Amino acid sequence: MDFLAGLNTSQKQAVEQTEGPVMIIAGAGSGKTRVITYRVAHLIRKGVDPFNVLVLTFTNKAAKEMRNRISSVVGSEAKNIWMGTFHSVFAKILRVEANKIGYPNNFTIYDTDDSKSLIKTILKEMSLDDKLYHHNFVYGRISNAKNNLISVQEYQQNETIQAEDFTSGRGFLGKIYETYVNRCFKAGAMDFDDLLFKTNVLLKEHPDVLYKYQNKFKYLMVDEYQDTNFSQYLIVKKLAAIRENLCVVGDDAQSIYAFRGANIQNILNFQKDYPDVKVYKLEQNYRSTQNIVNVANSIIANNKNQLEKNVFSDNEIGEKIKITRSFSDNEEGKSVAESIIQERGNNNLEWKSFAILYRTNAQSRSMEEGLRKLNVPYKIYGGLSFYQRKEIKDLIAYFRLTFNPSDEEAFKRVINYPARGIGKTTLDRIILAADQNQKTLFEIICDAPKYLENRSAMAVESFATAIQSFAVVAKNSNAYDTALHIAQQSGLLKDLYSDKSVEGLNRYENIQELLNGIKEFSEREDIEERSLDIFMQDIALLTNDDNDKDPNKDTVSLMTIHSSKGLEYPQVYIVGLEENLFPSQMALNSRADLEEERRLFYVAITRAEKRLHLSYATSRFRFGTLINCEPSRFLDEIDAKYLELEFTQKAPRENTSFGDERNKWQSKTSEKTVQGDFFSKPKPPTTKPISTTSLLAKAHVPTPGFAPSDTSKLQTGQEVEHERFGFGKVINLEGSKGDIKATVFFKEIGQKQLLLKYAKLRIL
Ligand code: ATP
Ligand code: MG
Repeated sequence: MDFLAGLNTSQKQAVEQTEGPVMIIAGAGSGKTRVITYRVAHLIRKGVDPFNVLVLTFTNKAAKEMRNRISSVVGSEAKNIWMGTFHSVFAKILRVEANKIGYPNNFTIYDTDDSKSLIKTILKEMSLDDKLYHHNFVYGRISNAKNNLISVQEYQQNETIQAEDFTSGRGFLGKIYETYVNRCFKAGAMDFDDLLFKTNVLLKEHPDVLYKYQNKFKYLMVDEYQDTNFSQYLIVKKLAAIRENLCVVGDDAQSIYAFRGANIQNILNFQKDYPDVKVYKLEQNYRSTQNIVNVANSIIANNKNQLEKNVFSDNEIGEKIKITRSFSDNEEGKSVAESIIQERGNNNLEWKSFAILYRTNAQSRSMEEGLRKLNVPYKIYGGLSFYQRKEIKDLIAYFRLTFNPSDEEAFKRVINYPARGIGKTTLDRIILAADQNQKTLFEIICDAPKYLENRSAMAVESFATAIQSFAVVAKNSNAYDTALHIAQQSGLLKDLYSDKSVEGLNRYENIQELLNGIKEFSEREDIEERSLDIFMQDIALLTNDDNDKDPNKDTVSLMTIHSSKGLEYPQVYIVGLEENLFPSQMALNSRADLEEERRLFYVAITRAEKRLHLSYATSRFRFGTLINCEPSRFLDEIDAKYLELEFTQKAPRENTSFGDERNKWQSKTSEKTVQGDFFSKPKPPTTKPISTTSLLAKAHVPTPGFAPSDTSKLQTGQEVEHERFGFGKVINLEGSKGDIKATVFFKEIGQKQLLLKYAKLRIL
């Protein structure tokens, strides 16, 4: 069977045009990603070696999905394609080549927290005002410079930049940038932006290396090209320079990362860079109903800056777009949850058909609460990764230090954790001594008596000895044995074990989970090197979506609009459509920023296949206070004929008129009659904001009268109830008396290991 039959004419042409530069700039849902997927499969069927194909995607998840689809056509050869995000692909290359630009090949990757912590240290050392030089601001500034390939020297010599810094009273930014770069280098560390910046340095300074990769990657493809920054653009341009077999796909209307340096010029210049580029138009949206596509078009038409595009759908007209007003953020969460339950029942859908999208992460709180109350299973994407949890980062810092003792951030993290009497003053002294003597922090503590007074010298020296002994163990043992040794000997496991609070137990379990993961890794047969430093290498690049154990689990998806790019769901809820939230308050100062917010709204709308729900609240807790909210201007921009208005809760009757708001909406609702009292002023909610932690603690409401049972005779197969995790079944018991570990499969949250003596279990 001709597998290209699943493509329309233009898509097919773009797939078959394998040689030379190709560009597809087309609207959402028109099959751009599908073209890349088919193109790769087509290349491989034509005999191209998958090792010679490089595909750059926006998320690792997207790469994984694409690989799965390709392997359904070409089989296991799909494993050999180079495919992933810019960061993961070039981290992999730098692992081989970093020594050529003066870095150890096992360099550490500093995540955003590490970078910000380093910036804070530098600011303190330079005695700079942390309001004027807020670490987030400084981080953004450095990141921006790097993504535009502005080196420290260029930064300091660029008159425009200097003038800008000087006028804003931040004349030290150049110096901070310089210190930051030097400190990362000394620590053998690259931050996220370095993974691209240093790749550029590598390719520029080492023509032989460039040549090697130009010949390796004979075919290059980039998805979501509209969101590449200058640094990424240049890497791609260089790698493709010999053959120019480069295919880029994107949509200028979905460019949503200008704030991170993404540059729409990359699309506009493509034709200039490659005059013989073949451009293909894709106009048919296969994803969404006509109503959804029309709404998206009507919104984006308000942007002045855009490429002409015609997008249409041949799918059913579909239902109108539903707008819901709630009286508070909590009500909004409740109404979304109720609506999902109703839609699921009416249309016979699974939970995973639904996605809730929001502008800011903080909004997930009220959504979660609504879903939990009604027992709707959900998963938050793009949240804190497993590897970003404190206890996990602590243990990993020990691993990092074992393999790279120069790693300054890892050092600061664990020098006094678990507590060993090394105070802040001592640490400050170590940092100062390192700076004055051009040494790393670790070198200072190895020679401690020279720099520190007796008592502190002894404490830090024994820490140094411990780390050195870990390195010896690591050389002679597999990943798991090394990890376990470090977890035990560092005192970290003991420290967590002695914390008997629920949170403490959770942290202990997380460490166990990490160790289990390492064990699995050290038993893998499909890879040659199974040492701990290999396991460690790119952990900093993982997001919580990557270690999603069961991506097919039937849950509602919650995520920010930014992380929903490229995805699709039968039913989508876009929540919090209020002025100052969406569009964000920060975007109201310039047309360019407002247009980016509008593109973000366009991205959100175009994720929906069958049904789109929009909602806003008239009051919301933000930054700890209750504020009144106005509906978003974006709602105004939708042509009323596509809308259906609904208020799920009746408000108590009061005299205050909401006339303005009514007029606004009445002019939009073409069919549904709006009843007067829906518009009366709501009573402000009295609920206080609830922290996520306390929410988590409320995950399960224990059966009334819940009392732990005597579990000394617990048997495999027995059903139990846990105070927080809910109902489950014991699937394994191990360990000796008094220290028995039970593996329980909980209905709601899956498998967990529990220490029986602490777990509050009720045998059913
Ligand atoms: P986005 O801009 O959101 O990234 P996209 O242009 O990459 O969208 P795809 O995700 O590739 O679009 O396609 C959207 C949906 O339409 C997918 O479910 C895809 O399988 C389907 N699709 C695309 N082209 C066709 C086609 N020719 N026939 C049938 N279905 C198609
Ligand atoms: Mg896509």
